[in-house]
Amino acid sequence: MKVIRYNEEDFEGFVQDLISTGRIEGKEAGIAKLMLDKGYDALSDKQKYVFDKMINENSVEECKRCAIDIPWCEMLEALENGGYCNYCQHMMEKIEQE
Ligand SMILES: [Zn+2]
Repeated sequence: MKVIRYNEEDFEGFVQDLISTGRIEGKEAGIAKLMLDKGYDALSDKQKYVFDKMINENSVEECKRCAIDIPWCEMLEALENGGYCNYCQHMMEKIEQE
């Protein structure tokens, strides 16, 4: 995941959701809370390493079907549907029903 995408406005909401859904726990959740509180730049190199790894494990870089960057607000769904954006998921559901 590109660190520049941490600046997108819905990223913090995504991190909050990772904590509230219990996807991340313990040390990772602690660092995520610190990031929400102080910002990514305030993390130590070690904390950034843990945080980046955690984000990589809990995100999909791009949609498997149309290859767009998955917006953070759709990321939890993308993790559950196998890596598709909302639009493609919707299209595939439509195709399945026909
Ligand atoms: Zn897509």
